[in-house]
Amino acid sequence: MKKKSKLNPTIFVIFGGTGDLNKRKLAPALYNLFTEGYMPEKFSIIGTGRTKFTDEKYQQVILENVNEFSRNGKVKDDSWKEFGTNVHYSSTDVTVPETFEGLKTDIEKYQKEFGPETQVIFYLAVAPNFFPLIAECLCKYKLTENEDNSRIVIEKPFGHDLETAKELNLLLSKIFTEKQIYRIDHYLGKETVQNMMAFRFANSLFEPLWNRNYIEHIQISVTEQLGVGERGGYYEGAGALRDMIQNHLLQLLCLVGMEAPISFDANEIRDRKVEVLRAMRPFKPEEISTNAVRGQYSKGWVEGKEVPGYRHENGVDPHSNTESFAAVKFFIDNWRWQGIPFYLRTGKRLNQTSSIITIQFKDVPHHIFSSRATETWQQNRLIISIQPEMSIRLQVQAKRPGVKMVLNPVDMVFDYKGTYDTDTPEAYETLLLDAMNGDQTLFMRGDQVEAAWELVMPIINTWESKKSLNFPNYPADSWGPEEAEALIARDGFHWFTLPLKDKE
Ligand code: NAP
Repeated sequence: MKKKSKLNPTIFVIFGGTGDLNKRKLAPALYNLFTEGYMPEKFSIIGTGRTKFTDEKYQQVILENVNEFSRNGKVKDDSWKEFGTNVHYSSTDVTVPETFEGLKTDIEKYQKEFGPETQVIFYLAVAPNFFPLIAECLCKYKLTENEDNSRIVIEKPFGHDLETAKELNLLLSKIFTEKQIYRIDHYLGKETVQNMMAFRFANSLFEPLWNRNYIEHIQISVTEQLGVGERGGYYEGAGALRDMIQNHLLQLLCLVGMEAPISFDANEIRDRKVEVLRAMRPFKPEEISTNAVRGQYSKGWVEGKEVPGYRHENGVDPHSNTESFAAVKFFIDNWRWQGIPFYLRTGKRLNQTSSIITIQFKDVPHHIFSSRATETWQQNRLIISIQPEMSIRLQVQAKRPGVKMVLNPVDMVFDYKGTYDTDTPEAYETLLLDAMNGDQTLFMRGDQVEAAWELVMPIINTWESKKSLNFPNYPADSWGPEEAEALIARDGFHWFTLPLKDKE
């Protein structure tokens, strides 16, 4: 029998209801939540956009989207019938405030039908320049006055730099209370990322070692095989540092670096995370060239196909100075992490698609085995793989079977696929459900976003003010520019990768 959700009736308004994000992520996520019994008994999904659709036509579009992009494949007829009747459309041009009147009428219709407990969630899946307009219109039409029953979910990017992020926070704070604002970083909804909290704070084994006394260095590496594809226009104004490091990678770093929270309360966890960002060593302009590396891909071959260089992608300036790769060495200046480097790297058109966090432990204090026994010696490593493989592997030394004492590094592996039969939900399923439940734990607070911008601004300013003279500086299908290898090699380390079974 299908689970019954205890959630209050919910109206889910999606600005950008005809867009790519809704098509690939939001619509399939809402449908999957429905089939798994997590949607409220009474709910209404209202897609919006300038396009003119009847409810019936929009339902047809959403059905096609779900069939194409849901992790569960095609819909089942009876489930779809039940779900589809709750999908509606309200044509709204956010640059024409009067068009919000129609949306307000629709919302009020379902509020009346569902009763006074109804909550309304406004999801802003539109270009960021529309965020302020929408917030102001929601205020003008008194759609978010009840702070207990209305929320706004904001997609990334949250600001283009520190100044614009502050402006947006200020504007939002005049209209909404912080408890109404859900700033998405979809990485935080990923199963393996959430598991970081369980792993660190539900086991007594690791926490005593989780500090500068036992850890030598930490790497966070999020690499993509794909290029910018059709997103060249957007990416030109962003680059790897803004698109990935300011948000996803720094959030991962916070989860690795944070102190133990006293409870699983959203604000408590967000307090501990923001403390990490505040403890991070700011860069002086003259330190940037030794601590940060940028790159841009040239053409090359990926799986037998020739792919264009970044400057030849659609929507990209042929003389672009935008980085498609960034690697940065950070330090956290506190008792736990003083002196321990955190190397972050991310890039497009690299050799593998993978997101891994590697914690390299210090070497044993004294070697008792002969050099012949330890030819493949490797310090202990903990590798947390977020995607595509979802696993945690602890690499230890063990004796190879045989009459001689010969050591080998071996992996103790916790692999999601091998351990659980159940499918893991998509990050957006978790996040949409949390937004409906009013749980902000996996969403960014305003001060977190600003602290992350503050940290990366000196790098952004330096890179924007000085054109890179050697772009493009890495070929497609490589591991990025040589300078990124040098960044870490200078300290005696190298970047780790996971042997992948399948390339994504
Ligand atoms: P998109 O495919 O270009 O969709 C844009 C949406 O905005 C469309 O539904 C469009 O609908 C609507 N729109 C444009 N002008 C409008 C107006 N004046 N009034 C009302 N609606 C308008 O963009 P997207 O890729 O879905 O991205 C949306 C947001 O999500 C962006 O902030 C992006 O950074 C973020 N995001 C996207 C992804 C992704 O995978 N796509 C991932 C992470 C974050 P009409 O044309 O019908 O008006």
